[in-house]
Amino acid sequence: MKQVVLVAPRHLALIEASAPAPRFGEVLVEVKATAICGTDIHIYTGQTSVVYPRVPGHEFTGIVEQVGEGVTGFSPGDAVALNPNLSCNNCELCILGKENLCPNGLFMGRETDGSLREHLTVPQSLVFKMPSHVSFAEGALIQPLSTVVHGQRRADIKSGESVAVIGQGATGLMHTRLSKLAGAYPVIAVGRSQWKLDLALQMGADFVVSASQGDPVAQVARLTGSLGADVVIEAVGNPDTVRQALDMLKPGGRMLGHGISPQPLPSLDLYRMYRKETTLMFPRALTRADFYMATSLVASKRLDLKPLITREYALEEASAAFRFAEEERLQVLRVVIKP
Ligand SMILES: [Zn+2]
Ligand SMILES: [Zn+2]
Repeated sequence: MKQVVLVAPRHLALIEASAPAPRFGEVLVEVKATAICGTDIHIYTGQTSVVYPRVPGHEFTGIVEQVGEGVTGFSPGDAVALNPNLSCNNCELCILGKENLCPNGLFMGRETDGSLREHLTVPQSLVFKMPSHVSFAEGALIQPLSTVVHGQRRADIKSGESVAVIGQGATGLMHTRLSKLAGAYPVIAVGRSQWKLDLALQMGADFVVSASQGDPVAQVARLTGSLGADVVIEAVGNPDTVRQALDMLKPGGRMLGHGISPQPLPSLDLYRMYRKETTLMFPRALTRADFYMATSLVASKRLDLKPLITREYALEEASAAFRFAEEERLQVLRVVIKP
């Protein structure tokens, strides 16, 4: 089978490898689509270090080809979405249902090989049946949606609370949509690109704020009756927008850091956070329950993933796909690679 390996920063190679066979409790999957996100770009550029060679890819879907001994509930031909977080299932955190924090956990495409290949095997616990109305490319976005569901469960938005979402990339747009579904009002989408703000309106934002026209903090204050938002979701991951997020919060408010950056935050005004009794949350990855809920949400058609797919490439064009995703960041929500 063909697989794409990262052999050095920004250097992908297409190589032949032998197809795996499913062991006890494993499912053999024919990969149909992989979406590329910011985490993959950090791995691709070397900002996140990995052991080379590594097969990238963690947002993916496929078709069950064969089931190993002991697998129940799946048969060849099932369209499936896959959770890339391999956890040990036996440590204290896994037992407590916090397998996203498992110290023995491996993330596909980073600590272990990912999905940019034609076939792979995974334990049955990572496999979820895909809603029948979505394409394989759309289904690949169930994984990032699960991380958004995880964050939303932590944020616990109450009906009528005001929410500002900074950054309208794919996960920012999902947060905008899910905040609306949680009953928040107003939901304020903050972003730089007009086309993404237009999409945010389509996803249900009550107001949009252009961060390139005037001070977004002042605009959010104006839209929330001067005190700021109950919940601010930061979905960019750079120090300036984290600072803006803290400034947008109402006293007693909570900030959810969804954007991940390898850059450290230079300084935090702790006294100011104390005065405002700020709650900070940095949700990590997802649990099996989050993946299940994300799949149900997509099945219910309350969220449309199709507008989040910018362009599709073949496996052989993986280098061009990564180059496009890195260089045209402002034009891209998700690039999808299909074997
Ligand atoms: Zn991702
Ligand atoms: Zn564990």
